[in-house]
Order: sequence, then C-alpha cells, then structure tokens
Amino acid sequence: MQGVPPADVIRLMPNVWTEPFWRATAEHRMVVPRCTACGTFRLPPTPFCPSCASQDLEWVEHDGRGTIYSFTVIRHAVIPDVLDALPLIAAVVELPGTGGCRLVGNVVGVAPEEVRISQEVTVDWYDVREGETVPVFRLA
Ligand SMILES: [Zn+2]
Repeated sequence: MQGVPPADVIRLMPNVWTEPFWRATAEHRMVVPRCTACGTFRLPPTPFCPSCASQDLEWVEHDGRGTIYSFTVIRHAVIPDVLDALPLIAAVVELPGTGGCRLVGNVVGVAPEEVRISQEVTVDWYDVREGETVPVFRLA
C-alpha cells in the first residue's frame, strides 16, 4: 500500500484498554469505546471516564467515515526505513457521532496537495501482518 510506512517499522503494542480496538481492526471493523455509565465516548480508551470516572465501557461499531480535523505532510525520513514511503500524510480524523473523538491515521491514495482540513474521508485497512491491521483513510 502506498502512503504508509513499511510493515517492518510498525509495532502494535495493545494493552488491556486498547486490545478490543486492535482486535476489531484486524477484522476490518472500526469500534469506539463509550462509557456505559454516562455515554461519553473516550478515544483513546482510558482507564477512567473523564466525565464520570467510571471504568466501565463498551465498544460501539462505527462506519469509519470522518472529517479531517488536521494533518501534516511528512517529507523527511526521520528513520531511513521510511524513505521510500515518502511523502506520508498523517491526519487527525474526527469521527462524527462520537462526541468529538479523533483518530490519527495516514491518508492514502491522494497527493498531499489535494488534502484539505474538513474533507470527508472513509476508513480503509492496512494489513501490516497476520492479525495486525491499522486504519488508514481515503478521501470520500
Ligand atoms: Zn462516564
């Protein structure tokens, strides 16, 4: 896939709070954690709800559509292994219907000059290796 770093430099490190997210991405599903006590979404998932301090949460399916809240174009290889993948477009994507949750992911399939804040995007999936998939975004 163009527009993403090579698989060798990607290391997913799930913990007890993020493992459900990564399990879903491996199945090409987007899920967002929501507090079962007060309904507040919290992404990234945190041990305590910022609104009510509950630790209870549920993982809600999301269609993966969003809008670009912010982005940057990476043109300099901080590590040599990504040189052939440049330029990379790293975006913060806001997910509608989640109370403002934002997810960081690469925008793929487009030239950097064509990307703008507020553009609509939809999720796609970068299968890094067996059982490990990261979300990326394409212009809608
Ligand atoms: Zn809560």
